[in-house]
Amino acid sequence: MALTGLDIYKKLPQKNCGECGIPTCLAFAMKLAAGQAQLEACPYVSEETKTELSEASAPPIRLVTIGTGDKAIKIGEEAVLFRHEKTFYNQPGLAVLVDDGMSDAEIDGKLAQIKNSQFERVGQLLRADLVAVKSSSNDAGRFTELVKKAMGTEFPLVLITDNSEVMKAALLVCAQSKPLLCAANENNFEQMANLAKENNCPLVVAAKDLNALSELVEKITAQGVKDLVLDSGSRSIKDSLKDATFIRRAALKKKFKPLGYPIIAFPCEAYDDPYMEAVAAAVSIMKYAGVIVVKDLEPWRALPLYVLRQNIYTDPQKPMQIDEGIYPIGEPDENSPVLLTTNFSLTYFTVSGEVEASKVPCWICIMDVEGLSVLTAWAAGKFIPENIGPFMKRCGITDKVSHRKVSIPGYVAQISGELEDELPDWVVEVGPREAGDIPSYLKNWSN
Ligand code: SF4
Repeated sequence: MALTGLDIYKKLPQKNCGECGIPTCLAFAMKLAAGQAQLEACPYVSEETKTELSEASAPPIRLVTIGTGDKAIKIGEEAVLFRHEKTFYNQPGLAVLVDDGMSDAEIDGKLAQIKNSQFERVGQLLRADLVAVKSSSNDAGRFTELVKKAMGTEFPLVLITDNSEVMKAALLVCAQSKPLLCAANENNFEQMANLAKENNCPLVVAAKDLNALSELVEKITAQGVKDLVLDSGSRSIKDSLKDATFIRRAALKKKFKPLGYPIIAFPCEAYDDPYMEAVAAAVSIMKYAGVIVVKDLEPWRALPLYVLRQNIYTDPQKPMQIDEGIYPIGEPDENSPVLLTTNFSLTYFTVSGEVEASKVPCWICIMDVEGLSVLTAWAAGKFIPENIGPFMKRCGITDKVSHRKVSIPGYVAQISGELEDELPDWVVEVGPREAGDIPSYLKNWSN
């Protein structure tokens, strides 16, 4: 039974020093009980108390790491049911399936697709995360050869077989890369749990329904395996959504430990129709998968899934922003136009994209307004002449250009007069309201 905030409070040092980042021990205890703080944040808790409280302070959904190095992915450790309550932290990994029953050409094509299916959007690289390697042959040698080939992508692996001997053979070549083993079921769980424990790998637990799943999880954790991922056996969109929601609610609201793990979803097994498979993957991104296995990630389905995932897993309380500074687009010189805007990522990338499309080299001056868009920053009193004037003087643009003309976004045309008062050496020109009009504006620009 999880401890309450008050139970935890009684065991804390009660110094109310605030060094944990929370003003009082009581507030810290409440956050610990809700899984929103880490015990390590308090430097005064004794080792004995740490052990005692570890259960209470553990996140309601365990954090599981798959893979090693730069491409390792972390899943789980979510604290809310709905993104608007706080944020979702660890985005689900998208895995592309290869099977040892496929031809060499098909396998090579999929592995190339995984490596090449990537896009850049608002400064972030969007890409696949894992290779799911499945044994349909049940042949250890054949599966191991495919695993070796998949390792060449350097992406973390999901090894899919119910045969513990086939799994064991594959682990001889890839255990050090910490693959996700899929799956332990009611027939093989002792052997699979031993393999996971010996090789320090996370393990999928699969059962036909949620009751059987939670019973199996308890048996496997009793064997000492802690890093688990859940497969409830559901495959259709409706049933997967129902189970994923139940698991998330049980973990967060009831603190039901046997379901306090991330989830794996298999749209690849649910639908032959690629459009329905993509819809199932999209639903799993939203609620609440940690790993999603799909047959393919060609650009037409990869891009919408990546963008959906990026949107869902962006913290709604923190605008995406870029650093303040001067950004050259193309190879601008002392006569090139100077554009001014805010450090809201979407604004910057929209403006820079249009400038690139215009083929007119420019300097874009980006002012830090805590990531707000132009109009919001103006309304909040941040993107106003009294702040812009000092920014233009300190940012260094006067060393880059010989002219003194700056273009401001059309949405803040009303500040142009006051800004000229702040910058008496500069001509302030009102640029377009819409980014799409930037190319034609720049083509007619003169200093
Ligand atoms: S750091 Fe520890 S002692 Fe200080 S307020 Fe936080 S919980 Fe209390």
